[in-house]
Amino acid sequence: MMKRTLLLLFSVSISLFLLSFTGSRKSREKQRSLIKTIIIDPGHGGDFPGARGSFSWEADVSLKVSLKLGKELQAEFPDLKIVYTRTTDANAGNKTSLLDDLHYRADLANSSGGDLFISIHCNSTRPVTHKQLTGYKTGTVWVGKGKKRRKVTRKIPQYRYWTTPGLAKGTETYIWAVNKDEAKINSISQNNDYYGEIDSTSNVALPDPSDPAEKARMLIYAQNYFRKSLMFGDLVEQGFKAQGRVDRGGVKQRNDKGIWVLQAAGMPSVLIEIGFISNPDEEKYLNSEKGQTEIVSNIVNAFRTYKQKVESKGADSQIN
Ligand SMILES: [Zn+2]
Repeated sequence: MMKRTLLLLFSVSISLFLLSFTGSRKSREKQRSLIKTIIIDPGHGGDFPGARGSFSWEADVSLKVSLKLGKELQAEFPDLKIVYTRTTDANAGNKTSLLDDLHYRADLANSSGGDLFISIHCNSTRPVTHKQLTGYKTGTVWVGKGKKRRKVTRKIPQYRYWTTPGLAKGTETYIWAVNKDEAKINSISQNNDYYGEIDSTSNVALPDPSDPAEKARMLIYAQNYFRKSLMFGDLVEQGFKAQGRVDRGGVKQRNDKGIWVLQAAGMPSVLIEIGFISNPDEEKYLNSEKGQTEIVSNIVNAFRTYKQKVESKGADSQIN
């Protein structure tokens, strides 16, 4: 009997809960469109320093810019809650493996109820290898096969090899490459012209669209967050362009391993490559007070516009 009463009470409370859920759906959606919590994710850190410049590391630059960004956002929007995935040069959540570090970032974003996820990284390219003929050396080499095999004297060319830093520069903003089109959900980019993040997340499995749970998560992103991510990313890239930074083709969609965290965070999310640490001029800029101030003010400007747009549209700002 006791059991029965408990069961009844349980099912009544479940029904009431569900009722309240549907009843206030509209107001909840309106509330949800207010941007209250921002997750700022400085890329890498601790055991995983990311890309290396000639005098600085990506992890340090991204942390400095992230902390400045949070400070500026807080000054302009005092009610905004800002959550950092790390605030020191340490593995996120002090996790020991890269996989746990990345999962921690996404879990923290989700458990904090973030409304926007901003990941700050620096790009890099491989150094360029050069080859120059320096002269010839006389030496003996074997030629021919079998009985015809014999030794001959030849001039052997001598080369000098050296590398110089890659000169790619500019900013790139990435969003998770999923939209409403199922064909796109199943297409994972095989593009290999990008080096920036591969080093850091090569052990992380990409979502598998044939797994129903993964697919559900991808669809939620597609339905609710894709357009907002694109809108914010576009504002960021337009701002960089207006500041005279090199435009590398606007907001990019990728399903790369490096931006795994974007799809794991259940909210609009972007990854901003604030410049190439492998390019000597940009490395100086990224480390300078002027550069960091410009980058931060651009992201704050983009956020201001984004916030106005999303909040004025209310519940209608969902993808339709
Ligand atoms: Zn990175």
